[in-house]
Amino acid sequence: MPETSETVVIVGGAVIGSFAAFFLREQGFTGQIKVVERDSTYQFCSTALSAASIRSQFHQPYNIAMSLFGANLFRNIKQWFGQDADIGFVEQGYLILGDKGHEQRHRNAARVQIELGAEIDILDPEQVNRRFPWMNVEDIGIGTYGTRNEGWFDAWALMQLVRRAARQRGVEYIHDEVVGLDVLGGRITGLRLANSGERLSCDWCVNAAGAWGGMLARMAGLQLPVEPRKRTAFHIKAPLEKAGFPMLFDSTGAWIRPEGEGFICGIAPEEHLDQCEDGDFEPDHYLLEDRVWPLLAHRIPALEQLRVKRAWAGYYEMNLFDHNAFIGAHPEISNFVLATGFSGHGVMHSPATGRAVAEHIVHGEYRSIDVSELSFDRVVRNQPIREGVVY
Ligand SMILES: Cc1cc2nc3c(=O)[nH]c(=O)nc-3n(C[C@H](O)[C@H](O)[C@H](O)COP(=O)(O)OP(=O)(O)OC[C@H]3O[C@@H](n4cnc5c(N)ncnc54)[C@H](O)[C@@H]3O)c2cc1C
Repeated sequence: MPETSETVVIVGGAVIGSFAAFFLREQGFTGQIKVVERDSTYQFCSTALSAASIRSQFHQPYNIAMSLFGANLFRNIKQWFGQDADIGFVEQGYLILGDKGHEQRHRNAARVQIELGAEIDILDPEQVNRRFPWMNVEDIGIGTYGTRNEGWFDAWALMQLVRRAARQRGVEYIHDEVVGLDVLGGRITGLRLANSGERLSCDWCVNAAGAWGGMLARMAGLQLPVEPRKRTAFHIKAPLEKAGFPMLFDSTGAWIRPEGEGFICGIAPEEHLDQCEDGDFEPDHYLLEDRVWPLLAHRIPALEQLRVKRAWAGYYEMNLFDHNAFIGAHPEISNFVLATGFSGHGVMHSPATGRAVAEHIVHGEYRSIDVSELSFDRVVRNQPIREGVVY
């Protein structure tokens, strides 16, 4: 890219915003990059509160490709961010269970994943039982297990590394809150800041505000169907062997994986209860007693005995339209670039998203993974994405 005096302002300085800033420099952007982040402690951002896991098991080719890029970057973190870089990536598979009668759907999805380079074992119940003998398989029809490119890591460490790398490349982080967007002639011309009262002018504005992405869009007069939805994670101790234990996704939606001395687990609330007030980070304790525990104890009898160590809650940046990300320019405001709405898989897709945002701004096109199907245009056309593997 030729030298430019353009300015990109990114709203939200957690994992997505920081990867966008980092990849802008990687793609040769020489102008100013400013990241506005209101919470310098990052304590409530979804990145800090996530289960920090990555899977290649999706239905849509671009989602699979984004995961494969992310897993590759996590595996080679030192090559990207230096010898001291460590995100504790445990490369261990997701085991996704399907009910009897749904075998074909899971098998078809796994075949697409394998064609695109994912490494997935398709297992019948007996094979699941042989590999994971502590599991009750009597009512399952199929299991798919990622033998590579899946696992878990330290999302906080990842965010700090990318943030540090962005700053080393001359990206400026501004501790302030964006409270207004100036729009003129179908473009965002400036951002209003709460604390300093300043106005930042911009050539590009990136919406990396996570669960607050819908609120940010409203400042530009746009309706973006992204809202916070509370998700609770429980840290438990249980008499189970952790070695070889997968990230288990039960067909009921309950999940569990090893973490530190024990395990973490969770489940989404039922749809009619899935509302939350912004600022409410109180864990939904009832979910453990009422749903997660009985469902998981059915699947893993040893979980009849468990001890809760702690619980925490954070927000999914829920895309109420189709539970998939919005990436790319908004059709009505062409310099407003969306990078939000991941609905539970934003950390794993953060490297690919940052790179896609950068390619769009620097080259005007996607050069690696074509994520154009994730653009907001699908809302205008009323064509939701059918991504079968969402949680
Ligand atoms: C319990 C739980 C489990 C999860 N598990 C996984 C998982 O296993 N794998 C996975 O990939 N994803 C998971 N997720 C989802 C993942 O955490 C998010 O998709 C991801 O962190 C989104 O990153 P982000 O940078 O867009 O958002 P955030 O990390 O929320 O960052 C957005 C930032 O924008 C800032 N901001 C917002 N509005 C403004 C404003 N007006 N002005 C200035 N700053 C602003 C906020 O302060 C915040 O720091 C999970 C989430 C939860 C809650």
